[in-house]
Amino acid sequence: MTGFCCPICGGALEQEGRSLLCEKRHCFDLARSGYVHLLPAHLARSKEPGDNKQMVRTRTAFLDKGYYAPLREKLAEKAAGFLAEDREEPALLDAGCGEGYYMAGIAGAVQSAGMKARLLGIDLSKTAVDHAARRVPSALFGVGSIFRLPVQSDFCTVVTEVFAPCCPEEFYRVLKKNGVFLQVIPSEEHLFELKQAVYAHPYKNEVKPYEQEGFRFLGAERVKRKIRLESGEDIRNLFRMTPYSYKTSVEDTARLESLERLETTASFELLAYRVEK
Ligand SMILES: [Zn+2]
Repeated sequence: MTGFCCPICGGALEQEGRSLLCEKRHCFDLARSGYVHLLPAHLARSKEPGDNKQMVRTRTAFLDKGYYAPLREKLAEKAAGFLAEDREEPALLDAGCGEGYYMAGIAGAVQSAGMKARLLGIDLSKTAVDHAARRVPSALFGVGSIFRLPVQSDFCTVVTEVFAPCCPEEFYRVLKKNGVFLQVIPSEEHLFELKQAVYAHPYKNEVKPYEQEGFRFLGAERVKRKIRLESGEDIRNLFRMTPYSYKTSVEDTARLESLERLETTASFELLAYRVEK
């Protein structure tokens, strides 16, 4: 059992050689890097849904410098801890896995703990998933939608979601009894100094109340540090990863282009919820 399900009929997908097949013999071949395409054609609205190549390159260049490593370590430690609670078939889904940066940390923590767990990643971007599959060979990645996860119901011990769209109904469905949803959101002051350097009127992030229907809130942990960006390239890569970059004026962009060095706060909330089913 792979944990993935057929985007055509919903049946469980089993692996046979380099293909995944459902009972009705709908067949999905693994790409050379090892991922599988599970987005139905009618849902692939554009030719390149999700993050494009440029965005994936930008994010990879930034994350690989280790600026967010403390967040990855904390998330991986938490995820491995909850996976260890499952004595039968521990499985984790990273919903909106991007290029596999966080999954690489989780896979490392699972291996260090001497555990066996099935690791699944889903993202809308084929480019990102292709990258993730090369990066973390011990996990299985699929191109798919968070809002219609190609994942079997009651399959996952843990679902993680880091800065990705959230679909609590789908996370509820794929989590098994006692499963845990781990969500990472930016704190109020996340990247505030960066916004101060770019905008005339910077605002703090809004942090929504910790409530999700169908889940019991277990607690929040803050991962906070100052990061020192030593090059203009790092600063601009980070900025392009944020949602702010879509609403930046010409003047703001000019200020951004002139920055060569910056110290800013990186601050995240790691929220844990237990599913109630
Ligand atoms: Zn099928």
